[in-house]
Amino acid sequence: MNYRHAFHAGNFADVAKHLALVSVLSHLKKKETPFAVIDTHAGRGVYDLAGEAAARTGEAEAGVARLRDLTATEPSALATYLELASDAARYPGSPLIAARMLRPGDRLIAIEKHPEEFAALKTALYPFARARAVQGDGFALLAGLLPPQERRGLVLIDPPYESPDDFAAAARAVAAVMKRFATGIVMVWFPVKSKAEADGFCGEVLATGVTKALRIDVSVEPVKSGDKERLSSAGLLVINPPFGLDRDMTAAFDVAGPLLKARLDVMRLAGD
Ligand code: SAM
Repeated sequence: MNYRHAFHAGNFADVAKHLALVSVLSHLKKKETPFAVIDTHAGRGVYDLAGEAAARTGEAEAGVARLRDLTATEPSALATYLELASDAARYPGSPLIAARMLRPGDRLIAIEKHPEEFAALKTALYPFARARAVQGDGFALLAGLLPPQERRGLVLIDPPYESPDDFAAAARAVAAVMKRFATGIVMVWFPVKSKAEADGFCGEVLATGVTKALRIDVSVEPVKSGDKERLSSAGLLVINPPFGLDRDMTAAFDVAGPLLKARLDVMRLAGD
């Protein structure tokens, strides 16, 4: 395994992804009926921002650390996110954010393939009775979990894109969700290394029978890291987005964007 999220946890792209996650879950909680969250690529659940990996890249320093002095008080996605990420050393990944936001009837299934990351995930989720950590291939296990018995919820697809196959696998995963759980919310994270690749991926996903989709891109100024250019733009494709997600993200980035030196672009790709 080459990819380790510890190098990137809390960077600008994680902030946008986790803000969107908080917004989606807050909208799901507006109805009393229980929901399920399936996190196909969960990671380790908690990241040590004071550790060597975070220090080596400085990505969290240029990301969530810049929001530390913000005190958003209204019950917004930003306020909830800041509260969940308030421990300066232990940054919560997507499964821990979801686990903390579940109500007693809701459920989380968090899948992680790599043994070390899975062991950490299991420990992080241990206190949460409604959260289950599963070791395996999230792409392979997803179809068997659909539709969830709750018939409401979110599928988060956040692969490492270590291999170019991850784009095709992510598009196939969305197609599987559309076939078995057409009303489900799906959130797919993707890197934007080239406009053509990102646009092509979104087009491929839309062709799977999607009728409502929002694309949310977040970008920062490109930075050289060694001899490589660090990721400076990332996207989220949200299928069946809850009403108000675009407004939540825009409002959060009106405040957080200038601190992160990040720009948000929200595009409605399908539906109204
Ligand atoms: N979703 C996490 C978050 O926001 O905190 C970050 C996940 S990270 C981008 C991707 C994770 O997927 C890594 O921990 C990696 O070990 C794991 N992974 C890679 N291939 C996988 C697969 N086929 N199935 C499940 N997990 C996989």
